[in-house]
Amino acid sequence: MSSRATGNLDKDIVRRRYAEERAKRLRVDGPDQYLRLTGALESYLDDPHMPVTPREPVTDHVTFAFIGGGFAGLMVGARLKEAGIDDVRIVDKAGDFGGTWYWNRYPGAMCDSASLVYLPLLEETGYMPTEKYAHGPEIFAHCQRIGRQFDLYEKALFHTKVTSLVWEDDHSRWRIGTDRGDSFTAQFVGMGTGPLHVPKLPGIPGIEEFEGRSFHTSRWDYDYTGGDAAGSPLHKLADKRVAVIGTGATAIQAVPELSKWCKDLFVFQRTPSSVDVRNNGSIDPEWFATIASPGWQERWLESFASYANPREALSGISAASPLKDMVQDSWTDTGRRLRSVVGGIPPHERTPERVQAAYEDCDYAKMAEIRARVEAVVDDVETARKLQAWYRYFCKRPCFHDEYLQAFNRPNTHLVDTDGQGVGRITPRGVVACGREYEVDCIVYASGFVVSVDFKSLLGFDAVGSAGMSLSESWAKGMRTLHGMYAHGFPNLFAVWLAQGASQRSNVPHNYAEMSKAIAAVVRKAVDGGARRVEASAAGVDEWIEFLAANAQMASVDDCTPGYTNNEGREPDAAERMAYLTYPTGALDYFRFLDEWRRSGEFVGLEFG
Ligand code: NDP
Repeated sequence: MSSRATGNLDKDIVRRRYAEERAKRLRVDGPDQYLRLTGALESYLDDPHMPVTPREPVTDHVTFAFIGGGFAGLMVGARLKEAGIDDVRIVDKAGDFGGTWYWNRYPGAMCDSASLVYLPLLEETGYMPTEKYAHGPEIFAHCQRIGRQFDLYEKALFHTKVTSLVWEDDHSRWRIGTDRGDSFTAQFVGMGTGPLHVPKLPGIPGIEEFEGRSFHTSRWDYDYTGGDAAGSPLHKLADKRVAVIGTGATAIQAVPELSKWCKDLFVFQRTPSSVDVRNNGSIDPEWFATIASPGWQERWLESFASYANPREALSGISAASPLKDMVQDSWTDTGRRLRSVVGGIPPHERTPERVQAAYEDCDYAKMAEIRARVEAVVDDVETARKLQAWYRYFCKRPCFHDEYLQAFNRPNTHLVDTDGQGVGRITPRGVVACGREYEVDCIVYASGFVVSVDFKSLLGFDAVGSAGMSLSESWAKGMRTLHGMYAHGFPNLFAVWLAQGASQRSNVPHNYAEMSKAIAAVVRKAVDGGARRVEASAAGVDEWIEFLAANAQMASVDDCTPGYTNNEGREPDAAERMAYLTYPTGALDYFRFLDEWRRSGEFVGLEFG
């Protein structure tokens, strides 16, 4: 009997199937299978959105420089301005603010998390998003709004890559060099380039031989496809055969749009995504007025975090007054289920084994429903079977869409499932998979972004600290920070990354929202007290790392199909594992800790001098 018919699951069968699907996909090259866009492939990185404007090199001094103009830079910049630090310069390789939303203008791009929790600084800007899940152009425009409101444009440097960052001890300041010939100084520097900002291509033989048009989804070529990011028809594709390689969160959004306009669309799949209901809709201003009382966005952020993360969902069961699920969507559904099932176990029987088993049951049931949805939506039985995901819910980034599966019912949209093996070769004419060549005019690489703990290669530079030692030398045995933000030997430097802190991936901006408040408070205190340098003490870092390591709950890579969330199935080495350390009792507890730490005014672990 099909799972659709019964909803019942033989857990052993499912577990075996999960293991088979994982084994099929494991590769010895793990994360090294992907191609960096250098040399002949560098042109894939060109900015199709805005021309680079010539300008003179900058050689001045600012109080605070931030590397990265996405959400992290905008939030830190805004909080610094609120704290009275006027002299803030944001530097970005893009032509404007927006980070991922500057680059990712592919058709159908939208936010996967509800806009009321995803868009930063909504209360501060007084902006009400138009949809429950905002589309890309609206999010990009919101980034520009923040830039304007907090006066961050004036000193910003766009289309500029930082190439060096060196501490000048005599002057207690950083010197910043860029690929535009700039050499300016800053008393404080923040680094926040986002977890997914370097596009990658699959390491498929022959990729340079293709004679048609090809591009990465984060560099969409509307000149070629016609249309625009706002949703105008991709009319130039009407006579084109197009290949999409990859079926992650990006492809799930782009495929429905391509399917509407291409003559033929071939979707090359290595691993299917789980695609749950999206249920988007416009936000009613009258309803919004009822929720938008002061502090509303913080309450929504907390509520979302307490349902969208399994650990928080579980700890919420024993909370005296558990938070209400305000967002009420497919993300938070996982937490609601978990709470209800585990909450139904009498407290004295709630052993770790029972809780784990209940968690597994919820997970298996959720995935069975998602597979049943495929059967219900996709007409062709064989295509539906191939679109079903066989792994646990959080093994890959969960996806949500109400037109993706439906697209495969169009006669022009063809799923090419590679049974876990991926595309075999690119030829001058097209794409080879499972021994067959598909001739196409255009290849769209929806192949994602570099995910690595090698921050030097991600950043494109290596900070050189007070002892003349680089950050990568200092962290040769693994990343070591206080709160995930401050490193000993690197004064006045703030990292706005996810590691060794909350590491909340279900809503990345929430991490930045809390970290930016802490940074603004530290800088304000330094400036008020006349301190020229602020630095994490060696003891402060040691204590933080010991605290995280002693209570580490390392995510296992054992039972998931490979992907960027589990280092492509390769067990991290000892140094890499340091970047997987997170606050032991979950994101919300980390945020509360950080809030108290900041409000106390003592800034334990930092030294001001
Ligand atoms: P992903 O890394 O998630 O997906 C890459 C895809 O390429 C996978 O399906 C992968 O298959 C496939 N692939 C890789 N190599 C091959 C090959 N040789 N042959 C065929 N297929 C191959 O990248 P995305 O850009 O889709 O998403 C990245 C992240 O960006 C998301 O996980 C999400 O965090 C974020 N995002 C957020 C959005 C938002 O709303 N906030 C919207 C879109 C993206 P396999 O799975 O087998 O590795």
